[in-house]
Amino acid sequence: MSDESNQGPEDNGSPSDEREISLLEAFDRAVALLPAGELAREQLVALRAEIEAQEEMVGDAREMIERLEQVIKKVTSPANRIGIFLGSPARDTAQIVVGGADYYCNVDPRISLARLQKGTRVLVNEAYVIVGDLGFETAGPVTKVAEVLGTDRLRVGAEHGTQSLVLQRSAQLAKAPLKAGDDVRVDANYRVALELLASPQSRDHYLDVVPELPWEKVGGQQEALQAIRDAIELPLLHEELFQKFQHATPKGFLLYGPPGCGKTLIGKATAYNLTKQLRGKSGADMREYFMHIKGPEILNMWVGESERMVREIFATAREKRREGYMPFLFIDEAESILGTRRASRYSSILSTLVPMFCTEMDGIDSLNEVVIILASNRADLIDPAILRPGRIDRKIKVNRPNKEGAREIYRIYLTDDLPYDAALLEGAESKAAAIDALIGRLLETQFAKKEENRLLEVTLRSGRKEALFRSDVISGAIIASVVERAKGMAIKRSIANPVAGIADPGERARANPEGISEADLQVAYNAEYLENEILPATDITEDWLKLIDYDPDNVVKISPVRLLDRAKSKPTSGVI
Ligand code: ATP
Repeated sequence: MSDESNQGPEDNGSPSDEREISLLEAFDRAVALLPAGELAREQLVALRAEIEAQEEMVGDAREMIERLEQVIKKVTSPANRIGIFLGSPARDTAQIVVGGADYYCNVDPRISLARLQKGTRVLVNEAYVIVGDLGFETAGPVTKVAEVLGTDRLRVGAEHGTQSLVLQRSAQLAKAPLKAGDDVRVDANYRVALELLASPQSRDHYLDVVPELPWEKVGGQQEALQAIRDAIELPLLHEELFQKFQHATPKGFLLYGPPGCGKTLIGKATAYNLTKQLRGKSGADMREYFMHIKGPEILNMWVGESERMVREIFATAREKRREGYMPFLFIDEAESILGTRRASRYSSILSTLVPMFCTEMDGIDSLNEVVIILASNRADLIDPAILRPGRIDRKIKVNRPNKEGAREIYRIYLTDDLPYDAALLEGAESKAAAIDALIGRLLETQFAKKEENRLLEVTLRSGRKEALFRSDVISGAIIASVVERAKGMAIKRSIANPVAGIADPGERARANPEGISEADLQVAYNAEYLENEILPATDITEDWLKLIDYDPDNVVKISPVRLLDRAKSKPTSGVI
């Protein structure tokens, strides 16, 4: 040890009595008091290193014991329970639920009671004192909201025969826009709803796109379109006038008629045009929200599930209205869920669905809120309760196109900007005139009552037999499909005969001599009747009845004419 260190604590000027000095320091001080050169001092200095080593060892041992003590304390102390904070019924007191039982308990003063949120997890000690805030649980059971009760409670469950429960909303859900049908996550004690989960079933499940669809894109349906405009457009656009005259407005309308004749198209056109007009009237950027519901999809074997879906659909529509959209509820094959009991083998479901649908509909204030459009091939099967005044009292027939209607529909799809076969345009006044003439010729053949166009034989109850021709079952869908097939043939030819010498594909496409020809359209028309599923695959009369416009009660038998022979000689349409 050096002399320097001998002088140690006293020399650096720190007051020795202000802190506890170590054994070694005390030793150094004692040694320093002995005169230098004395034997005892020399011997003591020699001992110092040993004392220092011993002291270090004792320090290490003490530290280890302390650590062990901590471990023993941890492994032997009881676990804290986790509860759910329900509220603060009195000052400094909390109400919690732990393992299904409720407790009034105290709170560790280090925890701010005011900061605890309803539904949050809390740590409680043996005395059930809240000693920690663990925040909201992130996992747990999920259930469906059956009903929203006031601002702070929800009824859940009642699905598949389970008991329903009333839950409180957690602080997280206090302001959430909950509605019947929503999925919510609840705490393990089933006391508090904690989180709203986006359910794929609700919201956008039924959403369908509405393209740009001015009324002119619907061909041959002037009467139906006029009826819709009178029933829906006028009351919406002249609301004050209707109120002044106290004129009842319907909640929507029923479109009925044979398949493929434009019911869905008209539904979408209604949504497009009406929203556009409302936008113009209000100046607000309103968008349509078109919910396309297929009746049979609603039928569900689970008890109460179909009803829940109906509730959910209406709730979504109302919610969308609140968000600023104009909701349209388009229910396809409406007779399957809104039919009379004889209409369906699901008669027990219908007996609750129909009244429920009526209640939901009655809950809608006006057209301004939600527009309901029902579509059906068999309007005669729809329950009269649905069609009462104030509900859906406008029944609009969507007819099969006659020759004039078919002309209009062909013209919608055979637009001026498509490439046509050069032979078609030769000698014509204009391209438009050439297309009109082409359509005229097509219709002459397609509407001719000649043998090759004969399709069905219908036997009536009176015993009379009537022949039906292809044009008797023509529809907008068939015409649209014929044009698509013809386009496909022209494209295929264009690929086979590229314009020589033009490298750029864009240039080549423009210069291509191939276009839609009259033969393409005629071949496509034949192929459509033989290859497509226009005609029912079975011989069940019910299926065939949907196709034709006869009163079902009057028809005894429907037989396809030589269908098999024709199918054997299928034309090669060359569709791509
Ligand atoms: P379903 O009863 O089978 O549901 P639908 O009457 O609803 O049939 P749509 O789905 O509207 O028929 O028609 C199918 C397609 O046929 C439309 O998307 C459209 O391309 C075409 N189409 C049908 N009718 C017309 C029409 N009147 N004008 C223009 N296109 C039409």
